[in-house]
Amino acid sequence: MSDPCLFCRIVRKEIPSTIIFENDHVVAFRDIDPKAPTHVLVVPREHVSSLNDATDGAMLGALLLAAAGIARTEGIAESGYRAVINTGGDGGQSVGHVHVHVMGGRRLAWPPG
Ligand code: AMP
Repeated sequence: MSDPCLFCRIVRKEIPSTIIFENDHVVAFRDIDPKAPTHVLVVPREHVSSLNDATDGAMLGALLLAAAGIARTEGIAESGYRAVINTGGDGGQSVGHVHVHVMGGRRLAWPPG
């Protein structure tokens, strides 16, 4: 049976995505439905369902360091950006593989809706 996790399949390159960065710990690819001029998702190679299930500090650090690096290479580090981890139903999480949204390139409203 094929892996039901969409982001695991993207990590393994079983389904196409626009990958812009990868290292031993994380893979980053463009969101298929971008909500900002730059909208990249950073995911761990290892399957972790949500932030609630994350216990590996090195993995979480790798996600955030990759997010900051992507902001630099995307040219939004100086103008500003948001790194967001939606968690659970009220948090708006729709894919059950923890991921950081890196969004920028326009002024983002606060608070989110
Ligand atoms: P969340 O709602 O926080 O779980 O974020 C999931 C994100 O995954 C959404 O912003 C979707 O647009 C994005 N997404 C869903 N399917 C794909 C895909 N095949 N490739 C890239 N991004 C995707």
